[in-house]
Amino acid sequence: MTTIHTLGFPRIGKHRELKFALEKFWHGEIDAATLEKTASDLRALHWQIQRDAGLDFVTVGDFAFYDQTLNHIQLLGCEPARFGFDANTNELDRHFTMARGIASEATTTCCGGHAHGSAALEMTKWFDTNYHYLVPEFTASTNFSLSSDRLFNQVQEAQALGHTVKAALIGPLTFLYLGKEKIEGFNRLSLLDKLLPVYADVLARLKALNVEWVQIDEPILALDLPAEWKAAFTPAYNKLSASGTKLMLATYFGALLDNQELALSLPTAGLHIDGVRAPEQVAGVINALPADKILSLGLIDGRNIWRANLDTVLATANEARAKLADRVWLAPSCSLQHVPVDLSTETKMDAELRSWLAYAVQKLNELGAVKTALDHGVAAAQAAFDESRAAASSRASSPRVHNPAVKQRLADLPADADQRASEFKTRQSIQRNRFNLPAFPTTTIGSFPQTKEIRAARAAFKRGELSADDYVAAMKREIAHAVQKQVDLGIDVLVHGEAERNDMVEYFGEQLDGFAFSQNGWVQSYGSRCVKPPIIFGDVSRPHPMTVEWAQYAQSLTSLPMKGMLTGPVTILQWSFVRNDQPRSETCLQIALAIRDEVVDLEKAGIGIIQIDEPAIREGLPLRRGDWDAYLDWAGRAFRISASGVEDQTQIHTHMCYSEFNDILPAIAALDADAITIETSRSDMELLTAFGNFNYPNEIGPGVYDIHSPNVPTVDEMVRLLKKAAEVIPAENLWVNPDCGLKTRGWTETEAALANMVAAAKVLRG
Ligand code: GLN
Ligand code: ZN
Repeated sequence: MTTIHTLGFPRIGKHRELKFALEKFWHGEIDAATLEKTASDLRALHWQIQRDAGLDFVTVGDFAFYDQTLNHIQLLGCEPARFGFDANTNELDRHFTMARGIASEATTTCCGGHAHGSAALEMTKWFDTNYHYLVPEFTASTNFSLSSDRLFNQVQEAQALGHTVKAALIGPLTFLYLGKEKIEGFNRLSLLDKLLPVYADVLARLKALNVEWVQIDEPILALDLPAEWKAAFTPAYNKLSASGTKLMLATYFGALLDNQELALSLPTAGLHIDGVRAPEQVAGVINALPADKILSLGLIDGRNIWRANLDTVLATANEARAKLADRVWLAPSCSLQHVPVDLSTETKMDAELRSWLAYAVQKLNELGAVKTALDHGVAAAQAAFDESRAAASSRASSPRVHNPAVKQRLADLPADADQRASEFKTRQSIQRNRFNLPAFPTTTIGSFPQTKEIRAARAAFKRGELSADDYVAAMKREIAHAVQKQVDLGIDVLVHGEAERNDMVEYFGEQLDGFAFSQNGWVQSYGSRCVKPPIIFGDVSRPHPMTVEWAQYAQSLTSLPMKGMLTGPVTILQWSFVRNDQPRSETCLQIALAIRDEVVDLEKAGIGIIQIDEPAIREGLPLRRGDWDAYLDWAGRAFRISASGVEDQTQIHTHMCYSEFNDILPAIAALDADAITIETSRSDMELLTAFGNFNYPNEIGPGVYDIHSPNVPTVDEMVRLLKKAAEVIPAENLWVNPDCGLKTRGWTETEAALANMVAAAKVLRG
């Protein structure tokens, strides 16, 4: 018999029940007991789904009100002292305080869902996913003790429902690795000896609850690990193996590579590997598996929404079983938390597209079908195999997926299609003559406040209550308003303000061929925040201009330069579910051509400055350094293809936020944008030192206004930041702008801050 399990299930609920309950609780509309009830109902439902799919265990430990790393901070008793919790603050309130900060401090979000709050724990992306975890804080005085019953209560909750439980934990090394040292010169790895006894306590408690298997996640084994971290694994797991519980060491998001031998040698009863991201590692691990170990093969994609090819999965499983017999388990590649919950919620999606997809529930059913086929023959799961084959063949031949013209255009693309006609210096002088901007020109990043009125108009339009003409008229009024404000403020390079855009990727995806949008394809980004990424299912092309009319209208209102505003190909790729039947690089180049067409059309329409936002370039970096160059090559080429269809006199800007550039500066410079705007105000211009040391050749606008805070920066503060910038960047290359777009801000603070920003630029000019 084949054992099947999942590393985790999405907790948010197929109708985002958890999100809505959380938000009601935070607004004081429901009490804690009601919130807890929603949570336990969801857990019960999700366990039942696992059982109905034929899984041998239900997974407990994947539920969190806000974040599973935060659960561990509480389980392991290492809540940072700075929160000053006393014995009277209950666990749930502490959970939300650490996640959301102190209520009086405003937090805002932008840029793909980051939140910033000075008192909350820092948030960062979970490996290369769009899920954000809360970062544990460590100091030399961090202590650990088993401090929460939540996990054990949930184990009992599942057992009371008659389920066999596998508990899931974040492993001790991954937990420490993902944390951050809060004092200089301290090494968090030195906390391991203090931490392990608490893990032993946790395992003992689980054993006492008759939990036979504990999944212990060490995804850092798919990273390039420093030697001391690698060396820490064996002694740590020697200690944990004394617990007497069976450990399933879970790795995912990539190949083990140089950590494979280590992972195989650890004294755990099982090892899970990712056979979707790294199918090439499967055969080697099978061959090297110690005789007493179980191998869990992740063969269903936990990171994407495509229906699996069950024949391929079955073939791999059969090969593994031929060598390992019952020592093979099957699972999704990683936790299903990174895919939406249930395809049955997609009632409006066309049947063909729907037949190509699988959300979490469907993925578990796929797993169940493979188990049935392994144990009883394919005929016993015929319907599932038939559907899988039908989907594979219709995707392979569908004219919706394959557009020969797009493939041809890409194949015919000249090698220098990613190069501007002249080099930067030449372009710069042509552009200077053309625009005749003052020194320290001022601009903004694109969006202006997305007011209630704007959102209401869009919602009414989508509901069919506002006609297209009325909607366009309303957006034009907003654009005119934003333009007039900028003129009054004395900004040099204007923007139209992006009133008509819901989201910087969705707006473009909705207008491009090859994209589809789900109704309910929500994935948790952080806390109660979910995103609904577009689905790129086919060859991408641009049937008609996407932004030209808006830009033209905005330009018609002023003689000052109006900056066209586009999202770049890498960011569009990065924030979507991407087709898996061709390399991501190829899909990215197709998007690049579509954006290039838009750039050229903007130029033809008289727009002289065009910004192509790429905030996601850095987060697209592969987990392993060895894969960086290949990525940066195609990502850079895609950006340049989008930017290089124009004449020298057209100025291309790009914008990036939340990026640490130090290790990718050559690639950023190679984008060859005429100007780049970046986030620097919160780091007090520290980012810029790297640009200075590198002698970054092109123009640059270091953000002087932290748009994540409602505070209005003073003129003096911005002058100070600009002077600091001028120490490392030649003054004649400096622009003056905020850190990021202003869509999350209100008009009052925006106007005040921009007035000060313009005044600061004038001080510098003087
Ligand atoms: N142009 C976008 C804006 O201003 C850029 C957003 C981003 O950097 N994520 O909102
Ligand atoms: Zn930004």
